[in-house]
Amino acid sequence: MSLRYLTLPVTPFAQNCSLLWCDQTQEAALVDPGGELPRLLAAVAERGLKLQAIWLTHAHIDHAGGAGQLAREQGLPIIGPHRGDQFWIDGLPQQSAMFGFPPAEGFTPTRWLEDGDTLSLGRETLTVRHCPGHTPGHVVFHSASARRCFVGDVLFAGSIGRTDFPGGNHAELIASITQRLWPMGDDTVFIPGHGPESSFGAERRSNPFVRDR
Ligand SMILES: [Zn+2]
Ligand SMILES: [Zn+2]
Repeated sequence: MSLRYLTLPVTPFAQNCSLLWCDQTQEAALVDPGGELPRLLAAVAERGLKLQAIWLTHAHIDHAGGAGQLAREQGLPIIGPHRGDQFWIDGLPQQSAMFGFPPAEGFTPTRWLEDGDTLSLGRETLTVRHCPGHTPGHVVFHSASARRCFVGDVLFAGSIGRTDFPGGNHAELIASITQRLWPMGDDTVFIPGHGPESSFGAERRSNPFVRDR
């Protein structure tokens, strides 16, 4: 297994930014750099990693607020999310003001993601699944070899993502979880956008929103 990761909660929302890297090549990506960029870059530098890209699960401010500045300053591509989140990217300035975040720099993703796309990181390959419901363009990043999935705000330990924002859809979110996440396997550990890790099996047993009936 050569995929490693470190979770760094950032912003007043304690959003779990993940630093992912291949321990054979030291190539790294930051998933959802919502803010606190100096801290994130220090974590990269401490480990001697070569930062290659920014990957976004969705375009809410706590996940994507630092992406534009980080991409510009470090010359990095922004990969994702799915095109369905364009309106959230366009709305980042309003999101910053509404939630009291520092003004977010606008950006256009270098590459939009589609369901089934693959992303390589050194010798590792992760699969993209489109999981709408919390936002229309939400994606997750799955490493079958490491049995890990970076799920953003789709699923949490004991809960699920909010669906009361514009473009949210409860039925779609439930379908994303049960039809796209569960098949990855009960022993797959997921890293949510907020709070502690859990496994899909544990959520299928005990999560009141999506447990097996
Ligand atoms: Zn969100
Ligand atoms: Zn969030």
